[in-house]
Amino acid sequence: MRTLLFLLVLFPSLATAAVNSTRIDIVNAPSQLWEERIYSEIDRTNRLLCRAFTQLPDSVRVFRSDRGPQYDLSLGMIFIGHDYLPVHLYHEYGHKVLDHYLYRHSSVLSYYQMRDRIGGPRSLQDSLLGLEQQIREDQGFLIQLRQRRLVKMAGNLSRWINDHTELIFEASAVMHLEERLAKVFEQLGSDSPAARYRLLAPYHELFADTLAVIMTGRWQSVMMAAAGGINRQSILTEPIPFEPSQLGFNSYFSNVVVPDVLHYRSFQRHLSVEEYRFSRLEGDSNYAQFAPVRSYIRGLAEQQFENSKAMLLLILAEAIQQQLELRLSEPKLLQMDLKAMNRGLIDSLQQRMANLDVAIQGNCRSQTGIAQIW
Ligand SMILES: [Zn+2]
Repeated sequence: MRTLLFLLVLFPSLATAAVNSTRIDIVNAPSQLWEERIYSEIDRTNRLLCRAFTQLPDSVRVFRSDRGPQYDLSLGMIFIGHDYLPVHLYHEYGHKVLDHYLYRHSSVLSYYQMRDRIGGPRSLQDSLLGLEQQIREDQGFLIQLRQRRLVKMAGNLSRWINDHTELIFEASAVMHLEERLAKVFEQLGSDSPAARYRLLAPYHELFADTLAVIMTGRWQSVMMAAAGGINRQSILTEPIPFEPSQLGFNSYFSNVVVPDVLHYRSFQRHLSVEEYRFSRLEGDSNYAQFAPVRSYIRGLAEQQFENSKAMLLLILAEAIQQQLELRLSEPKLLQMDLKAMNRGLIDSLQQRMANLDVAIQGNCRSQTGIAQIW
């Protein structure tokens, strides 16, 4: 159920609300109306997703900025402009949803994150041993600070010890992956976060675009917004329900010339991964690498998942997790051509659907005969 609750207004440029258990911090809002639009659109998205996702982002920070729309993976923060369109926010929030999902569900990605935070070029085990030793020494020092009544220094050191003790606890949970993943981490090199970002980015853009087109009910909404030719008023006032008969922006935007790269974000029908010929442009853009997968997703959304878009988004997140874990666990899969990437993701989606079929049949037999999973 929709809950839109203002919890706290610290000062005029920072507002906080809780929407469907996601705390939203808005920084630098130009008006209260703008803030309320942000809350409302994230609320709408959460109300769709919570039909299938068991966990949504605990919190999200939205920063009004002219550098938006953008999602910063390292900060976990959305930047969005004063005159943004809903499709922009749905896309950027899609990044946040996938980011949260992956780090909650993927121990492989957690391992890499831990290496970035405390390991670096040293193994996780060596780093942990070093950190434990440092904490033991600092605990002794802390006692001395307290005896000398150096309260502020003792407080700072105590916080450092607590934070790093928690870090050791988190890192220990992924230590078992060291043997399997250390080689791939080394292969990614000292530029590991950037290399990992390059691997993640095309999958992230695919998920964010899929969420955005589902939320707007228009397969071409992302492409047209990116082209800058969208009719703002039509987007704000069009009916929301997702109905295939109402898809398509062509009637509104017949004069817009869409640059070639945007074309690949349009979720075209009937593209076969086996027959599809990729162009150089597609490999060069994080937004353009999954044209056959987009087509496959559209087919699913218009047929098997017509009434269960949240479930479609969930199996897409699961499939992306599976593909990323495969690629981050096997050095020879770090580099992959576009056909293999598309084939792999479609295979993962099909596996997830096969599992869903089993779950649905199980539900039908054991309960009411209705596919309750939907
Ligand atoms: Zn994006």
